[in-house]
Amino acid sequence: MSEDKLPDILDHVLKSVRDFTEAEVALAEAEQRLVLCRQGVMEQVQRLRDGVEASHAPELITVLRHLYWQQPGIHGRALAQAAGLTLNDMLATIGPAPAGILCAECGVELLRTSRSWQPPARPGPPLCPDCVAVDNRTRSRRWHVQTLRSRIIREARVPATVREWRAATELVLAYPPLIQGIRRGSEADLQEGVWRGWENARGIRTRLINAAVVDDDVWGITVEEARLLVSIALKVVDWDTARTRDIVDPTTDEAAVALLSRLQRAVRDEAEAAQQRADAAYPEGYEPSEDEINEIWGGMSL
Ligand SMILES: [Zn+2]
Repeated sequence: MSEDKLPDILDHVLKSVRDFTEAEVALAEAEQRLVLCRQGVMEQVQRLRDGVEASHAPELITVLRHLYWQQPGIHGRALAQAAGLTLNDMLATIGPAPAGILCAECGVELLRTSRSWQPPARPGPPLCPDCVAVDNRTRSRRWHVQTLRSRIIREARVPATVREWRAATELVLAYPPLIQGIRRGSEADLQEGVWRGWENARGIRTRLINAAVVDDDVWGITVEEARLLVSIALKVVDWDTARTRDIVDPTTDEAAVALLSRLQRAVRDEAEAAQQRADAAYPEGYEPSEDEINEIWGGMSL
């Protein structure tokens, strides 16, 4: 850059700074004017309020409605105050404004009830309050039906002889998770349910002992417990066939794999049958009675 042009450049710098300063002054003046004008609007609203009979006089409402919905630069709370109202009273008096969003269900236009209004935060497309209520009722009905069905499934019992349950239980209990080197709560434990499976087997064995049942008795355990028991037993059955033989020998002459496969089928059959019973008892579109709903909620608070 040649030196003889520097004064020119400095002139331009000074001019641009001057322009900037003038703009700042103009802005400050405009802002001040805005404050004064806003105050002027408020004073006129106050005069209008004083001039009408009551705060719900149509002339006042029309002005308030316009200022609140069309003039966002006029503060809502101050406006209400000028009209001698609280913000909530003013909002109730002027009513909502169209939000420009249509209900995805019935097509009616959603209404903004205040400037800070947002479409209801819920999954899916926007719905009007009526359709939200219908949707909520449908959801809760479905949830209640699902809960009633799951109760039937939860209460279903897989029937098998005590001998079969004992064989499966002893097999699982013969391989405590610690021997397998799996820590409780570790990723392997959570994935395979090893500890849960072991404790499940221990619980079943305790119940069998307490019930003082004999090997040929038929005994039912829940589908969930039976499924876990059999899946863990099937996992350990092949680890050491000689040991497996030793474990189940005192209980049965049958090969452990055959016995477990039969239990596995029994679990599957009972789960399917329970699901069918549940679907038949509470079909699609079923309306739970008030008693049933109360029972669901009563059962949950226990
Ligand atoms: Zn709707």
